[in-house]
Amino acid sequence: MTKITPQPGIMDIALYVGGKSHVDGVSNVVKLSSNENPFGPSPAAQEAVRRSVHELHRYPSTDHAALRGAIAEVYGLNADQIICGVGSDEILTFLCQAYAGPGDEVIHTEHGFALYKIGALAAGATPVEVPEQDRVTDVDAILAACTDKTKLVFIANPNNPTGTMIGLAEVERLAENLPPQTLLVLDGAYAEFVDGYDGGAGLVRARTNVVMTRTFSKIYGLGGLRIGWGYGPQEIIDVLNRIRGPFNLSGTALAAAEVAVRDTAYVEKCRLENTRLRTWLAEALAEHGVPSDTSMANFVLARFADTAEAEACNLYLQKQGLIVRQVGSYNLPFALRITVGDEASCRRVAHAVGQFKAGAR
Ligand code: PMP
Repeated sequence: MTKITPQPGIMDIALYVGGKSHVDGVSNVVKLSSNENPFGPSPAAQEAVRRSVHELHRYPSTDHAALRGAIAEVYGLNADQIICGVGSDEILTFLCQAYAGPGDEVIHTEHGFALYKIGALAAGATPVEVPEQDRVTDVDAILAACTDKTKLVFIANPNNPTGTMIGLAEVERLAENLPPQTLLVLDGAYAEFVDGYDGGAGLVRARTNVVMTRTFSKIYGLGGLRIGWGYGPQEIIDVLNRIRGPFNLSGTALAAAEVAVRDTAYVEKCRLENTRLRTWLAEALAEHGVPSDTSMANFVLARFADTAEAEACNLYLQKQGLIVRQVGSYNLPFALRITVGDEASCRRVAHAVGQFKAGAR
């Protein structure tokens, strides 16, 4: 009998359970569970997708030069220091593959994005979870957890699922005080929802131990095409490019992203609408006795009295056709993460939470 066994660490990875997108017997369902842009991608990017149909028989670009050039122009970066991947997920995975292995430690925050741990375990490294301070990234706790085995530190800023953010001075303090062998990965998946958040140009220019990751899945509304990018020191981008499959991105995704990144007016419109509706939603929930931390992203983390109440509210919302995310897998089972939808969806969800709090089941 042969015995085929995976690498150590792989079986410690919990299978990712995908979110629902429909509820049996309920119509008019709205999905507010994956932090998607409710307005979809820019119309110009949709047109680029339609045009790309004529090139489906061609292999796509291997160096992504046109897209990297567009990103560099819009964000004021050096195109040679950009790498594009199948979602920022792929860039995060490359970083683990390239820089962490058996015996190495990979730090992520208490309520950090699930992929950091998956990437570390898949690379055979040891994930190390560091506590937050009231659901906010704690730089001192991270620095205290670093050892001579720490190879990577992942922080999302703003963070998912908490929505909280630390300032640039804190990020710089973290980068400055890390051990010499440690790379800081600053995950900016939600950066475009923050007014004035740059592409990491200053941070990456100033030091050799910071990589910024970004995505087209959130404000750009292209989650379905799976495309993201990273910005870092030349030597690191060179390393990541060596393990990147030559045709990792489809021509359709590249074409759409290139047009989307240039449509800055559309991005700005989405950012402003998100800010307005996020404030409205957080206030409406608070009025119903459901508090949340100040979110800088496109969701709010609504806190309930306990896990049972969050679960009951989640079920009630589902019956109303509102799919949100109970974040048990992030050790926050007493909370529901609610994506900021369009105005009608925000009103529906606030109304339903109010009814639930008033006793409806
Ligand atoms: N980082 C964070 C913090 C996220 O929330 C997500 C998506 N949920 C990602 C990275 C990955 O996004 P994508 O692979 O779609 O770019």
